[in-house]
Amino acid sequence: MEYIIIYTMIFLFGITIGSFLNVCIYRIPKKEDIVSERSHCMSCGNVLKWYELIPLFSFLMQGGKCRNCKVKLSLQYPMIELLNGLVYIWIFVVKGFTAESILFCICASVLIVISVIDWRTYEIPFGCNVIIGILGIIRLILDLAHWYDYVIGFFAVSGLFMIAYWITKGNGIGGGDIKLMAVAGLLLGWKEILLALGIGSVAGSIIHLTLMKLKNKDRVLAFGPYLALGIFTAMLYGDKIIDWYLKICGL
Ligand SMILES: [Zn+2]
Repeated sequence: MEYIIIYTMIFLFGITIGSFLNVCIYRIPKKEDIVSERSHCMSCGNVLKWYELIPLFSFLMQGGKCRNCKVKLSLQYPMIELLNGLVYIWIFVVKGFTAESILFCICASVLIVISVIDWRTYEIPFGCNVIIGILGIIRLILDLAHWYDYVIGFFAVSGLFMIAYWITKGNGIGGGDIKLMAVAGLLLGWKEILLALGIGSVAGSIIHLTLMKLKNKDRVLAFGPYLALGIFTAMLYGDKIIDWYLKICGL
């Protein structure tokens, strides 16, 4: 019973943060202020009342429409809120009630923002990478005995990306991807960030090629969402996957 209450609270907190992520996703690419400006309808500009801002529920109560101008609201709003709520529960279920779980929840939220923005604009906002970098520094301080894991992690994949960037003269890989893998490496350590790269590359190749086949047109690859998927998987299951891999290698 206690757990039901705790997880319900985590979920409600998650969808509330998810609501803020929507604001970030829309405003950061337009260079709009994410804090001071009141939330408004994207179509008619109507400033939203408190009861129109309740994550998930407002959307459902209003049937997915603006109360003022009746324009259909993007499904993205409730989906991001729901996703963030579920991801928070997921992290606490896998990682337990630890300080790490809190860091990972914040990181996962930033990864959601990065994924959507990079998908649309091919750019990873610098501020997002700064936040993950701060989380990485906190993790390093919490686990000071293994500080070198995180420091090596900072350079492990970003170093490879730098070489790729240099060889392809900036056409193969974006500066945002390099910075993302540096700060995520600081958060995860070198083994898990290498795993994240592996997962991201495989997922990226499969999904991107499938999408290109299905839609039958060329689309430039936004690597960010796939790297984010790899980072998220490595964050939650990296230790288990690496243990399992070392076992089959007989190490
Ligand atoms: Zn409206």
